[in-house]
Amino acid sequence: MKIDLHIHTNFSDGQPTYKEVIDKAKELRMDCIAITDHFDNYDPSPHIRKIGDDELIEFYEKIKSYAELKEQKVLCGIETCTDFKGDLRISDRVYQASEIIITSVHYVEYNEELVQGEYYNDKYWEAFKQKLLNMAGSEGHVQGHPEGYLPINPLIKPGTTTYEERKALCREISVRYLDNIYLEELAERFLLSNKAYELHGATGTPRESVVELMTSKGVKFSIGSDAHILDWIGKNQLGEEMINKYKGSLFRSFR
Ligand SMILES: [Zn+2]
Ligand SMILES: [Zn+2]
Repeated sequence: MKIDLHIHTNFSDGQPTYKEVIDKAKELRMDCIAITDHFDNYDPSPHIRKIGDDELIEFYEKIKSYAELKEQKVLCGIETCTDFKGDLRISDRVYQASEIIITSVHYVEYNEELVQGEYYNDKYWEAFKQKLLNMAGSEGHVQGHPEGYLPINPLIKPGTTTYEERKALCREISVRYLDNIYLEELAERFLLSNKAYELHGATGTPRESVVELMTSKGVKFSIGSDAHILDWIGKNQLGEEMINKYKGSLFRSFR
């Protein structure tokens, strides 16, 4: 079973067109992919453009007709950040039209002062943890990269870290703040909402111990590369290994 349920195109901040993504999926013989562009009109990042409902739904229709032509199974969906309480901020129409909704903590509502370079700000990370709990227990199908791409940008002086350094930093923050007591509470929220925990290809997260804990609690998983370029599509080695090793179940069947 080869799936990749988290892919971006140039409809948001990815490089390839949806046609290139579908062609690539076909070439890789993927059983199912999901095109999940950013759709979040509250995102403070200048890289995330604002998209209207009509434009999104027209995009879904284009994806579906090309996927049908190519006989490739493609789910149409979005990746979005919720408000602090975990509530989605999309219309019913978008909700109904989306086959997969990934919620990710891309930013945290936090009004106190942050010092750039001081990464271990306990109060900030406590706020993050609360938002992640709220989101995990709320609407949407998949929780995107719970231990990868943490919202570290407000703590970093622009241009001072490489991609690999930021990844390492996220790992250290996960080890420091996302302990077992917290993770057990997180698992409870996932069970309550029936949302899936994403095994994230781009960052190779979460830690193996987290997969083990989530599996033992009965939490379901999703597998997504978070590809922004063609070459990243289907790069989900760690997730696939983890699913096999711990007999983890995926949040929906892909037959
Ligand atoms: Zn994301
Ligand atoms: Zn993404």
